[in-house]
Order: sequence, then C-alpha cells, then structure tokens
Amino acid sequence: MGSKDWNDKRQGVLQRYRQLLPVTEHTPMVTLGEGGTPLVRSRRLGPRIGCPELYFKLESCNPTGSFKDRGMVVAVAKAMEEGHRAVLCASTGNTAASAAAYAAHCGLRSYIFIPQGYVARGKLAQAIAFGAIIVALEGNFDDALRLARQVAATHPIALVNSVNPHRLEGQKTAAFEIVDDLGDAPDMVFIPVGNAGNISAYWKGFVEYHRLGRAQRLPRMMGFQAEGAAPIVRGEPVEDPQTVATAIRIGNPASWHLAVAARDESGGTIAAVSDDEILQAYRLLAQEEGIFAEPASAAAVAGLLRMAEDHDLSEQRVVCIVTGSGLKDPETAETIPANIVPVAAELWAVEKALALV
Ligand SMILES: *Cc1c(COP(=O)(O)O)cnc(C)c1O
Repeated sequence: MGSKDWNDKRQGVLQRYRQLLPVTEHTPMVTLGEGGTPLVRSRRLGPRIGCPELYFKLESCNPTGSFKDRGMVVAVAKAMEEGHRAVLCASTGNTAASAAAYAAHCGLRSYIFIPQGYVARGKLAQAIAFGAIIVALEGNFDDALRLARQVAATHPIALVNSVNPHRLEGQKTAAFEIVDDLGDAPDMVFIPVGNAGNISAYWKGFVEYHRLGRAQRLPRMMGFQAEGAAPIVRGEPVEDPQTVATAIRIGNPASWHLAVAARDESGGTIAAVSDDEILQAYRLLAQEEGIFAEPASAAAVAGLLRMAEDHDLSEQRVVCIVTGSGLKDPETAETIPANIVPVAAELWAVEKALALV
C-alpha cells in the first residue's frame, strides 16, 4: 500500500488499512468516519505522576463516541457481504450504539440485547435514536450474550459481538494508528478490560505491525478490570459483577484466553482497580487534562496512577486508551460536586458572585 494512503486519517478504517483487514473486492467500503482518532500528549497528569511522556488515545472521538466503531464497521460490512439483512448483539451499551448506527447507515435491521437497568443513559439514547429493536433482559451482560449467541445460531442474523472475529480485526487498527503517529510502539499501553476483546485486538495489531517491520518493538499490555467485575484477576467467572463502570461490568469475558495471552506474551499485567479509584481518575482526567471519558475508560487511568506510585515511569513512553466518551454516562457526571452559582441577571450580582468586587 502507498504510504500516502495509509497515512490519510480522513479515510475510514476499511479503506485506510484494507490490506491488513479481511477486505475482498466484494466488501462494501462503508464508513461513518471511524478511526483516525487523536493521540494527545498529557500536559499535567503525566508530568505530575513522574511519567513525562504520556499520551491519551481519544477513542471517544469515534462517530458514536467509543472504539466499538472500529470493529463494527468491519463486522457490518462483512455481514452485508455475506448477504445478511439484520445484525444482533448483546451489549452493555456501546456495542449497541455502534451496531445500531452502522446498521442504520447501511439499511440493515439491528437487534440489541441489553441488561435491563445497567446501560448508561446516553448509550440507550443512541440505540433508540438509531432505531434499534431493543430487548431489555432481566439478567446481566453474560446472560444477554448467551442468548444472543443462541438466537444468531438458529436465525439468519449476523452476531456482531466481539466473538465475531471481524470485530477484533477492526479494533486492531487503533494499534496501527498509535505506531503510525509515534513512529514506533510505546513501552506500555494502559487499557480497560471488560469482555477482553480490545486488549486482545491491540496486541494483535502491535504484533502484526512488528512482523511487517513498521514497529521495532512491542509494548507491555497493562489491562485493568473493576474490583467488583474482575474475573481474569481472580481466575474465575464472577457470578454477579458490579461496578460504576458499566462498560466493563462483565463476569465471564468472551476473549478471556486471548487477553491472558496478550498479557503474558507482552510481559504486561491485568489487575483490578476499585470504583473509588475509577471515579477519582475520572475526575482527574476531566479536570487536569480536559478529557471527558466514561468511567470504564478511567479504569485504565486509575491503573496508571497506581502503577506510578511505586514504579519508575520517567523513561517510559506510555499510551492510555480513552475508550469512550463521558457524555454517554451523565448519571456519573452528576456525582461530581458542581460549581453552579445561581445569580440574578445583573452585572453587580455576577461580579459579587464571582468575588470580582
Ligand atoms: C467495550 C468497552 C470497554 C471494554 O472493552 P472490551 O473489549 O470489552 O474489554 C471499555 N471501555 C468502553 C468505553 C467500552 O465501550
């Protein structure tokens, strides 16, 4: 591929990385403008915690506000190529928003299975707006995925969860972009772990670029689960996972073994952070960096903050993946003490309220 092509961030991921994706001459080159997301250097948090070369990969800038769009565009394009007229997924919210968006874009029907009461409001709003058929199950994500698999196995509907290999293929392109932007792989990648597809996809992407000679080295994959939903850390499924970070509220990850392989082959870790640590990182990221992430994304930042306490990161080039936008989860934002001052619409009152007089 010509370097001019793959460096053009305005292309969608299917076009930009088509030679490293399962794209055939029959694959519809669909895009909503996913990928090409910013890699932003930390100005305050990194220097303060002794990690001067820290970057944030803003996957929150994807069309539906999460990294899920990278995999979904590939999964939906392949579903169309295979002649499907409908897609189905189980979701904690973001997969649903993404599947519904790409289905609408392509004129397919979308069926969404969600755990009732545990989907952040913004994500549900997206699925509703895109016209998905939403099944609210009295169960958790793991129940929803089990049922989605059963329905897809017996009906002509494409399952677009990350058990669909096209999803991980699309998601690996974020690793390509990081290398394309930095000129090599970083030393460490901090990333939240839920169903464990994304950490696996990044590792696949870094390994492929390394084999192609586009990266000279490989990063350590540093994955973080929430304490109340940490099956990989505990070494066994969690029956009733609980965490404020609903996108990683998963008790039995579909890509468990791939994630463990990514951890071990990269010399990385998968550890747990508490909801308190997640909410603290969520606030720091917003108020010290101007990055509004959803709580699941903050789990990776919480992991970094903890690691910085007892590890020397001064020589490490670190990338933290901001997997989704804070706008998706207004309920959690409302837990931050707000600086809202009610004032009469008079200049003297405004100046007095701001302590300017
Ligand atoms: C899906 C998701 C995750 C977890 O990714 P997995 O591939 O399930 O491990 C983390 N953060 C956000 C915002 C997500 O949407």
